[in-house]
Amino acid sequence: MIDRQAISAIRDREIARFIAANPKSKAHAETAQGWFQGVPFHWMLDWSSPFPIVAQQASGATLTSIDGQVFDDFCLGDTASMFGHSPEPLAKAIAAQAGQGLSYMLPTAKGAELGAMLAEMFGLPQWQVTTTASEANRAVIRWCRGMTGRDKILIFNGCYHGAVDDVFVDLREGRAVNRPSLIGQVQDLLPTTVVIEFNDVDALAAALHGGDVACVLAEPMMTNIGMVRDAPGFLTKLRQLCDESGTILVLDETHTISSGYGGHSNTHGPKPDILVVGKSIGGGVPCAVYGFTADIAERMAALNASRPAGHSGIGTTLSANALAITAMHAMLGQVITRDAYNHMQSITDRLVSQLKAVIAAHGVNWHVSHIGARVELVCSANPPRNGTEARAAMDHALESTIHLYLANRGILLAPFHNMMLVSPLTQTAQVDRLAAELNNALAELLACKN
Ligand code: PMP
Repeated sequence: MIDRQAISAIRDREIARFIAANPKSKAHAETAQGWFQGVPFHWMLDWSSPFPIVAQQASGATLTSIDGQVFDDFCLGDTASMFGHSPEPLAKAIAAQAGQGLSYMLPTAKGAELGAMLAEMFGLPQWQVTTTASEANRAVIRWCRGMTGRDKILIFNGCYHGAVDDVFVDLREGRAVNRPSLIGQVQDLLPTTVVIEFNDVDALAAALHGGDVACVLAEPMMTNIGMVRDAPGFLTKLRQLCDESGTILVLDETHTISSGYGGHSNTHGPKPDILVVGKSIGGGVPCAVYGFTADIAERMAALNASRPAGHSGIGTTLSANALAITAMHAMLGQVITRDAYNHMQSITDRLVSQLKAVIAAHGVNWHVSHIGARVELVCSANPPRNGTEARAAMDHALESTIHLYLANRGILLAPFHNMMLVSPLTQTAQVDRLAAELNNALAELLACKN
């Protein structure tokens, strides 16, 4: 319905507008050559703009660039800052800790409190800390293989669980393939990573039947290939099939902590054997955690006791340092609260109804998926049921044009797809602006016949 030439004409116009409006960011891109490709981390080039917006500072749900542009931030560091940029309790706690040492390789009293807080919030009794969610997932896969003596893991097509080589396997035309974009991987991952479609109960039953899969590693709904919701009953069946086959169920709630207090598994079920959560749990300070049942803790202890002395291959020097513990303690104690979720939910409801109204007003074949504080605008008619359908629904040219159009009007969406996050500090006026500008973008795209 939207003319392809209209997309490229509007994109060209918006690129010119972006360049004119962001001279300092442009100069930065040209001069920051001490960095590879001008950025300290290459993902920063993945935004829809011709060069990245250079951030000056951020607070709450607002970010300011070095060009003095103020943005309503619905990206929120791709979930790392989903409870708001620099919430006051976090800023205060880390400022106080900064004068008391940041990394000792020793436990602390605050750490003991944090362990109890994690158990209370997520309903699992035992926890470990890592520095990133990627690292937590790598550690968990290793524990699961060690505990079960099984080589294989199972993942869902289109998933993302961080920089975890084992999960970079896709289904293409029904065949498992090593993900071609993975740099420098020389191992064939296919013998030890089983990949099936999300929501495919028959494939899941067949894959677990042999009893040779150590763990299923899954998000309770997929959030990294657009949004793919679980079909009714699928997660219950997943839990049941794992139990029947002695497969450990690992739920990666790094993103789905947005579903509600205690994450998706506590608000919607089922309970995992191991739960991973990273990013926002430290409010932007690098840290992640994984929690597990008493039964898993016993098996981990037996495995740990039975191995020869030497490197476990799990954890790094900075894991669970005082800075990370302090950050999580402040976040869980004072920021990630039931009240915060109540606010997020009511603002999200407003956002969803306004997005739906925009879609309806223009009669486009799009839809909105959402759960908790995470919203996805999908530029196709039907909600995708699995990774293959979600991949097919993506329209990079259209989506990146909309992102750039919005960025030029002071609104940031996550760069990878049309994901919007609502924080406890997001205001109704920000939601209203987003809906109004999306409305304008659609009106222009539909009117432009080139
Ligand atoms: N798990 C999920 C579900 C994620 O979305 C991500 C990152 N997008 C990760 C793990 C990895 O997080 P990090 O990059 O902080 O290691």
